[in-house]
This record gives sequence, structure tokens and C-alpha cells, in this order.
Amino acid sequence: MKGRKLLMIPGPIEFEPDVLQALGAPTDSHVSADFIEIFGNSLELMRTVWQSPTGQPFIMAGSGTLAMDMAAVNLIEPNDNVLIISTGYFGERYANICKRYGANVTILTTEVGDTVSLNTIEEELSSKKYKLLTITHVDTSTSVLVDPEPIAKLAKKYDTLSILDGVCSVAGEEIKQDKWGIDVVFTASQKAIGVPPGLALLMVSEKAMNVFKNRKTLVQNYYADFTNWLPIMEAYENRNPSYFGTPSVNLISALEVSLQYIVSEGIENRFLRHKQIATAFREAMLALGLQLLPFQKDISANTLTAIYYPENIDGGTFLKHIGNNDIILAGGLLPSHKTQYFRVGHMGSVNNNDTLATISAIESSLIACNYAFETGIGVKTALKILNS
Ligand code: PMP
Repeated sequence: MKGRKLLMIPGPIEFEPDVLQALGAPTDSHVSADFIEIFGNSLELMRTVWQSPTGQPFIMAGSGTLAMDMAAVNLIEPNDNVLIISTGYFGERYANICKRYGANVTILTTEVGDTVSLNTIEEELSSKKYKLLTITHVDTSTSVLVDPEPIAKLAKKYDTLSILDGVCSVAGEEIKQDKWGIDVVFTASQKAIGVPPGLALLMVSEKAMNVFKNRKTLVQNYYADFTNWLPIMEAYENRNPSYFGTPSVNLISALEVSLQYIVSEGIENRFLRHKQIATAFREAMLALGLQLLPFQKDISANTLTAIYYPENIDGGTFLKHIGNNDIILAGGLLPSHKTQYFRVGHMGSVNNNDTLATISAIESSLIACNYAFETGIGVKTALKILNS
């Protein structure tokens, strides 16, 4: 008995022991020479992971929603037009955030499990002047993956800032922030970045920082105002002590360790590993006769998979069996479909064994729910892909 279950939800995830050790170390002063080095190094490592040598990184105490909030409140002024490209729950959330700061919000959306076409986006961008648009790279509620590159290109064409919600994608799905010309890319620590919940991480382009610096109105949130935090990030990066609000010393120490893991794996290798595990997992589910959300493989996320329960199987009972198999999976999130599907996270330091153990637990639970299939076919299908 290990006494613990394998956490395979789409964040928080399983963390590396060294990361947890850094989190549990005695807390240092936030202005000690050692911690200044850790903070400064973490900011620099972020540029490598985001592939944004020219970006301005921010490391904030808070969850992913703070990152969403911070990008919005610093760039939006009352009556700005904002375009939300929504593929699920988190697109809707972004619309609410932008409305709160006085933006005129237009939401483009489609049927559940699909993406908004580039034509529709261009039509909307050409209809009026938009200050910014937002893209959810992977909407964790639908598992839909959006290709941000052509949308960022369109945004540039219409002189609109682009914000990428990368909470469920940074360090798991390919992102080349500078090359693709995305103005803000943010995430939260508990996802593919591989650190327990509590940090909001943003990378902001020079162009977006200039838009912020030329604001005519005050930022409508004291804590989230870049004015307060830009000098702090610059000071730490220049290895100088500074203070505005006490940083999360232990979480940032853990972040440095995790970013070092990511960089030493190699960001391209990491994307490939995520892709291979996601493909193996998805194909295993299909071999079991299960239906996936989204239906199309080319817009399926590599960081998580959403799976419909088979007909006549109660989700609660199924997930209870999964728990009895020492695995934790997540239920549905999209309000309209919540009880119809479950979600499996496979990001960060996830390995082949975690993947196979999860597929095996799904098979056992399906058997317990009297679902008919060829026992072992899921594991066999995944093994073939993982060994290829
Ligand atoms: N955006 C996306 C795509 C997410 O998956 C999440 C969290 N699941 C958030 C934003 C919000 O992050 P948090 O829960 O850390 O506030």
C-alpha cells in the first residue's frame, strides 16, 4: 500500500520530488542574496520556456485567474473593444473579466468541441477596431486545442493585441511567443509548469508594455497594476533587493527547480513527449469504444483528454471505481455537458507508466460498470504507440 493515489486531473498534477523538496525547505528572506538569485534566475528561465527573449516576465502570487485578470486590467481602458475567441468555460470567464473593466466585449464561439474559423475571426476584426483579442490555447473544459499562430498573425494585421490563455498549455503545447507575435502568454504553476498551485506567470511583449505605459486612465485594480510590479521584476532580474508585496518565497524556489527540469529536458522534446502520451491515451480510449471531446484529432489537446461516459454508465459510480483503483480523475466542467464526460490530465512530468496505469484503471472501472469491451485493448493500443 503506497497510501496515496496517482493524481491524473488537468491540474494540479503530480510534481517532481525535488520541486516539493524546495517547497518544503525553510523559508528564506525575500530579499536575501540567495532568494534574489532564485527569483532572477526564474524570470530568465521563463523567457526560455516561453520562447520569448524580448518579453517581460511577471511571477505573481495567485492562481491562473489572477493572470487572466492582470493581463486584462493592465491593457483595457473603459469602452475598449475586446474580442473573445471562446472554446469553452474559460473563454466565458475571460469575457466576464473584460466586461468588469469596462470593455465592449464580443464573443465568438461555436458548437461545443469545435474551434472558431479564421474567416469568422477576420470578418469580426475587419468590422471595427479591436484593442485586443483573447485566445484560450487549451480550454480545459472541452479539451479543444486552438492554433494561436494564425490568429496572432491576424491580430497583428489589424493592429490588435493578442492574449493567449496558456494555463493548460505552457510547457506542454508548442508555443513560440516571439516568433508567433503573441503579446501576452500566461499560465499558472499547477499545470504543465509543474509547481503546486499558487503562482500566476505572465510574459508580456514590448508592444503590450508600451500600450500599458501609454494608458490614459488608472489601472482599475491596485494589486494587479503592472506599475507596482514591473520595478520589482526588473530589480530581481538585475539581482537587486526590492519590495512591493511579499513574494511566495517557497513557491518561487520550487518554480526555479521545475523550470530547470523543463529546460534540461529541452522544450521541443517536452512537446513531443506530451504529444506521444496524448496520442497513446486518446487512441486507447477510442479502442475501448469510447467517444472523445473534441471529435476531431487535429484540435485535441495534448495536455488533457475529455471522454464521454458510455451510455447508461453513471459518472459518479465510474469515478468511484477509478478512485478504488488508486487514480484520481476529474469530472466534466462545461455546465451544459458536466455530467456527460470526465477528464484526464497528462501533462508535466507525466510518464508512460502513469499513462498505462490510468488506462488500466479505466478498463477495470468499465468492467465494474458492466461495459462490454475486449479487456486489455486500451493498454495494448497505448503500448504500441508509446513503444514506437
Ligand atoms: N484558464 C484555463 C485554460 C484553465 O484551465 C484554468 C484552470 N483550470 C484557468 C484559466 C484558471 O486558473 P486557476 O484555476 O488557477 O485560477
